Amino acid sequence: MFDIERYHQAADLQDAAAALCADPQAILIAGGTDVLIEIREGKRAGASLVSIQGLAELKGILMEADGTLLIRPLTTFSEITADPLIRQNLPVLAHAADQVGGPQIRHVGTIGGNLCNGVTSADTASTLFALNARLEVTGPAPGWERQEDMSDLLLVKRQVPIDEFYLGPGKVALQTGELLTGIRIASEDYKGYHGHYIKYSIRSAMDIATLGCAVNCRFDEGCRHVEDLRLAFGVAGPVPMRCPQTEEALRGMAVGPVLFREIGRRAAEEVKPRDSWRASKAFRLQLVRELSRRALQQALDDAKGEGGQAHA
Ligand SMILES: Cc1cc2nc3c(=O)[nH]c(=O)nc-3n(C[C@H](O)[C@H](O)[C@H](O)COP(=O)(O)OP(=O)(O)OC[C@H]3O[C@@H](n4cnc5c(N)ncnc54)[C@H](O)[C@@H]3O)c2cc1C
Repeated sequence: MFDIERYHQAADLQDAAAALCADPQAILIAGGTDVLIEIREGKRAGASLVSIQGLAELKGILMEADGTLLIRPLTTFSEITADPLIRQNLPVLAHAADQVGGPQIRHVGTIGGNLCNGVTSADTASTLFALNARLEVTGPAPGWERQEDMSDLLLVKRQVPIDEFYLGPGKVALQTGELLTGIRIASEDYKGYHGHYIKYSIRSAMDIATLGCAVNCRFDEGCRHVEDLRLAFGVAGPVPMRCPQTEEALRGMAVGPVLFREIGRRAAEEVKPRDSWRASKAFRLQLVRELSRRALQQALDDAKGEGGQAHA
């Protein structure tokens, strides 16, 4: 049984924001794969829900005039993995989305929900960190007041870099009435880059990550040197995180054994994993060392496959 007090199906984005402002305790629901489980477990029992499921304006993937890729939040994991624009330009994200749960969850769960639940293990989050994603948040204009009829509510948009979106475990930078309405990846953050995501989990399917590692790397022509490197992790700290000091140290480094040793050694000094019933801190640090090396190797192999010469 689901203990739900009230359910409102929003007609559009305006209606969703107005309903959330009218009832600040109401919970926004997209695919419901997190929210409904929490209600069923009793954590959010008696909640009122505002549903955005089916709103066409919040669904889909497109390329903007300057080459920026825009992913709307209601796009499901299956749609991301199958999308031609994503497969061609962001294969690392297609792969990360394909690691989530099982087919049923991937058909229903959305990328917006995966970010807005604020969970460090979210499979698409670390990849979006490594892609410097910018989030579009839409909500009431500052100074709005709660009234009986909120239909005239004025909405405004703001842009939030993904690393400023996560405030703590389960907590993201959304105020009352605000929704995530877009995820943008600029062309300079994916063109010429090769990325790879590795999820380590206890079971190979239907299990959340014990550790997730995303690499997004640009090599010079011939793949002799690292021109730019982004390294991000899930479950290596309370929220998804980048390793800026490791990235800085490896920028410009020659491709070879030192690079592959240093990425893991430095990253392990930067992350902050903890002990949990899934894995010890020591095991997670070992995963950080090993998965960062393997993800970089795969990114290099992919780069070479596109015409670079072998110089590993
Ligand atoms: C069996 C099972 C296995 C799973 N396996 C994995 C896994 O392997 N990897 C993984 O990462 N996740 C996994 N999940 C978690 C879940 O599927 C994802 O987090 C999913 O992306 C949530 O999306 P949703 O649309 O279902 O979100 P919902 O449950 O609808 O919402 C989740 C949260 O996000 C908020 N929200 C949703 N959309 C918006 C928006 N546009 N603006 C503002 N707030 C919003 C909601 O208010 C809520 O707080 C699993 C879940 C289940 C049940």
